[in-house]
Amino acid sequence: MTTAAMVAAAGSGERLGAGVPKALVRLGDQTLLQLSVAVMRDAGVDVVVVTAPSRLLAEFADLVPGATVVAGGATRQDSVRAGLAALPDDVDVVLVHDAARALVPPEVVQRVLSALRDGADAVVPVIALADTVKEVDESGDVRRTVDRASLRAVQTPQGFRRSVLERAHAGGVTAATDDAALVEALGVTVTTVEGSPEALKVTTPMDLAVAEGILARRRAHV
Ligand code: C5P
Repeated sequence: MTTAAMVAAAGSGERLGAGVPKALVRLGDQTLLQLSVAVMRDAGVDVVVVTAPSRLLAEFADLVPGATVVAGGATRQDSVRAGLAALPDDVDVVLVHDAARALVPPEVVQRVLSALRDGADAVVPVIALADTVKEVDESGDVRRTVDRASLRAVQTPQGFRRSVLERAHAGGVTAATDDAALVEALGVTVTTVEGSPEALKVTTPMDLAVAEGILARRRAHV
């Protein structure tokens, strides 16, 4: 199995309000981009491709020596498509990872890789929901309570057989918020493995504070 990790890092990260693309935000002494790439490298992937904002290609490339850095697109989906086009021919398995999930524990990456090794076409790390979830109408009134037991929040890295991911991205579905949704649209089974609360997507200033807490706790335990 020849593996690639594609780290999606071309977003602007406006909700974080840091004034720089989110992937360049620092957590401890490294950027979210560097931390995410390091987790993928530690997992033993053969190739790392990063999608970056087009005006910052050189700056991103300096931060992650050895990775192939390509310009992302207007949407995350466009960015992943650009990353796919940059994969070497011999890659047969792809992990797609949000740079914003910089603290994903190595065990989660290993679970995704081992599901692929066991033959899965597509695999996503998931966690159960802590909150009760309700569906509301346009005015905000509750329509119904959704059965929480069957719901999962989905994280990254999401793992795919390359041919499946390429077919999914060629399929014409737009506005999917993750890659697995495109694969589901093909009718291909997406399997799940246990994710981790530490794989949170750093989106808001509060998420960054939580991530700093996780990092401090890890450093205190080594
Ligand atoms: O916007 P959101 O938080 O869902 O983005 C998830 C990940 O996708 C982020 O790591 C972001 O950098 C990346 N992204 C991208 N290209 C875009 C938009 C987002 O690579 N056009």
